[in-house]
Amino acid sequence: MAIYEAVVGRTSHPSVLAVYEEVRRRFPALSPATVYSTLDLFARLGLVQEVSGPVRRYDGQAGVHINLVCRRCGRVLDVVDAELDALQRRAAARARFQVSAVRFELHGLCPRCRRRQSRRNGGR
Ligand SMILES: [Zn+2]
Repeated sequence: MAIYEAVVGRTSHPSVLAVYEEVRRRFPALSPATVYSTLDLFARLGLVQEVSGPVRRYDGQAGVHINLVCRRCGRVLDVVDAELDALQRRAAARARFQVSAVRFELHGLCPRCRRRQSRRNGGR
């Protein structure tokens, strides 16, 4: 339950380590393996979504949204767009596909890492 609360409904996209660090404060006997397998179970049950990237993170937000994953710092930004839901339904209907999970991910550089990169390239 504590692991559930540390992920579901959060917008922070915590990594396994972040969930472990948080829950361990209340349950010092907790092992990282327990956190790992519990999050894996939640993902299989569709309660959370795995977000791939430099570090594996979990998204506990309900609703269709895009995760923008920074390949450098691993930060995950959310974009909610009303058209996503319609797009998803249209694509599934066209293919007569029954959808059980939805995952939108864009990979690239976040604004912070882009600024850092352009400074390194002499402000280009
Ligand atoms: Zn970044």
